[in-house]
Amino acid sequence: MSQRSSPEALGPLVPAMTAWRRDIHAHPELGFEEHRTAALVARELEAAGIEVTTGIAGTGVVGTIRGTGMVEPLRGAGMVEPLRGRAGNRAIGLRADMDALAMTEVTGAAYASTVPGKMHACGHDGHTAMLLGAATFLAANRDAFAGTVHLIFQPAEESLGGAKAMLEDGLFDRFPVDAVYGLHNLPGLPLGIVAVPKGPVLASSDTWQASFTGRGSHGAKPHQGTDATLAAAQFIAALHSIVAREVDPLRTAVASVGHIAAGNPRAPNVIPSEVHLAGTARALAPLERDLLERRIGELAHGIAAMHGLVADYRYIRRLSPTVNHPAQAALAYRAALAAMGEARDDHPPITAGEDFSEMLLARPGAYAWLGTGDPPHPDGQHHNPHFDFVDAALAHGAAWWCSVVETELG
Ligand SMILES: [Zn+2]
Ligand SMILES: [Zn+2]
Repeated sequence: MSQRSSPEALGPLVPAMTAWRRDIHAHPELGFEEHRTAALVARELEAAGIEVTTGIAGTGVVGTIRGTGMVEPLRGAGMVEPLRGRAGNRAIGLRADMDALAMTEVTGAAYASTVPGKMHACGHDGHTAMLLGAATFLAANRDAFAGTVHLIFQPAEESLGGAKAMLEDGLFDRFPVDAVYGLHNLPGLPLGIVAVPKGPVLASSDTWQASFTGRGSHGAKPHQGTDATLAAAQFIAALHSIVAREVDPLRTAVASVGHIAAGNPRAPNVIPSEVHLAGTARALAPLERDLLERRIGELAHGIAAMHGLVADYRYIRRLSPTVNHPAQAALAYRAALAAMGEARDDHPPITAGEDFSEMLLARPGAYAWLGTGDPPHPDGQHHNPHFDFVDAALAHGAAWWCSVVETELG
């Protein structure tokens, strides 16, 4: 007899999920180095009787569960609805990320990182533990759904392109899915609340680099050279006019300068011949992303020409915007309502980036936020050394995963 998922139904798995989460937390591994974490995942999936494939894009793991539920044809007005019978052939992917960040933890937790300079500061330890919990529950309740669930444990979400690497390693050729779902913890959103935005969830995340090269000179005789520092200053001011003056005020884009390098602090009386700048560019849609790429470059070249300098410009597209597909977002929202009795579908987009965007470009799907309430430490936001995943949310996240399966394949 199968059990309908809810945080209460997942309750018996909370001690195991907490233990996995803290074990992974104490032993953080950076992108594509998640050997211990992947081994833990494979071991626990096998213990739950789940088919396991390891070594996808290096440390990626996929667990596969085949439902045994019978799909009964719906009878209405004396006829059998033909499409229902096909549901048993459907498959969906559920994705969690496993990597940690190159930071030093200061939480002082009993299960704090044992590896100096590495910590789980984004909660991927919690994501992995929740998907393991959901996998264990689903494996024990196979009659609750028909079709196939592929549990995707992804390496290297933090800036190293683990999702893309898994796709290039044939993820969806080897494990075909009709839809794919992702989940991320979110401090500030009430504990246990799942929010599934209807459209854009996260921004594109790209890097730009610009350099200005001229002729250096004595600081006392600027007329003998061409001053790259003045061009850099004007470039920064002009860069910030793109979003202010060229982007629709009701739409979203961000351009920030994150790096400037020029000259030598021990030679302040020398005008340097080169200035290097780099920064980030974010947008929720291709229109603004393309605009940023083009205009930052035009400004760099235009300002260089104005000062008799040479500009070098590069724009590196790293992550596409994460945009939910409407049908799957609606389903993921209904799944949260069914499991928790409460959910949100109106969460505003965030200008951070996420490489689940690559999976959403390959297959229909949705990405959801899992509220973890006020962080235990006031500074404990993502990527802060005080961050710690909130274990009280484990049952809710796992219940949502299971409910997505029951809603998609039940
Ligand atoms: Zn992160
Ligand atoms: Zn993250």
